[in-house]
Amino acid sequence: GVMVATNAAALSEVWGDIQRAAGAMERILELLHTQSGLIVPRQPQPIPDIIAKGVEFRDVRFNYPSRPQQHALRNFSLDVSPGETVALVGPSGAGKSTVFQLLLRFYTPQQGRITVAGVDIVAADPGQLRERIAIVPQETAIFAASVRENIRFGRLDAGDEDIVKAAEAAAADQFIRALPEGYDTFLGERGLRLSAGQRQRIAIARAILKNAPILLLDEATSSLDAESEKLVQTALQHLMEKRTTLVIAHRLATVLQADRIVVINHGQIVASGTHRELLKQQGLYARLAALQFGNLDI
Ligand code: ATP
Repeated sequence: GVMVATNAAALSEVWGDIQRAAGAMERILELLHTQSGLIVPRQPQPIPDIIAKGVEFRDVRFNYPSRPQQHALRNFSLDVSPGETVALVGPSGAGKSTVFQLLLRFYTPQQGRITVAGVDIVAADPGQLRERIAIVPQETAIFAASVRENIRFGRLDAGDEDIVKAAEAAAADQFIRALPEGYDTFLGERGLRLSAGQRQRIAIARAILKNAPILLLDEATSSLDAESEKLVQTALQHLMEKRTTLVIAHRLATVLQADRIVVINHGQIVASGTHRELLKQQGLYARLAALQFGNLDI
């Protein structure tokens, strides 16, 4: 019936997004393979709902199965306290996204361990683990459905009021109400196209709706106009509040707001500190910051 057709259209669109985002087919196949081969414990250890212990990587070493010679992460230890925001910065290929992949248990480290709220994620149910984590990806997947349903994707049992509240917190309510049919406006390939900044705020609304204690934010690299940038920044502030956040940072505003910046190079943490502290060291961070953020006289 209609539901099936809608799902098929939505699915084909997501699939297109995945292909564009991931690029190489090899990566997708490897991901699917890894997920299907995932060992789920028979009696998983529950991860508490209120996370008082944050996230910890302890001496993690990892290489992707297709590249046994190359360590994507090594000697990797990182403690993120509850409510803390840690920004990950580093050159392309340094291992930043790998940190997310491992935390979400799309892959399992060859050595070391990762704990969430004190629970080794290998001992947890991957489904429950992923319920505790909200993700804002670089590219927002928009489904062939109404704005309302696109936001509901953050939490499928959310009521319409919760969706509006999430949109308000994500600084999206105003532009949504200005659309031809408001929250009922149809999006996707055959529907209305949103701007990059609007799509990002939809992704943020989804994450707010999910209300998970841990947030993984892969900041978009595309630049927005000043007005849109300000709205996205406001939305992000709401989202990050009180959550344990790891952000792959591409914006100056984000690193300035972070409690700590961790610099990753060749799979290892090479420095950490605040923006000012790291600039003073005149090392990799200072060079990256000059390239990525431009003028640093603040
Ligand atoms: P970018 O800023 O470009 O996204 P990154 O810091 O996020 O880079 P990762 O994507 O974590 O870097 O990659 C770390 C290393 O692992 C790189 O050498 C990369 O080529 C490799 N890698 C990443 N994903 C895979 C994969 N699915 N299979 C094999 N190798 C991979």
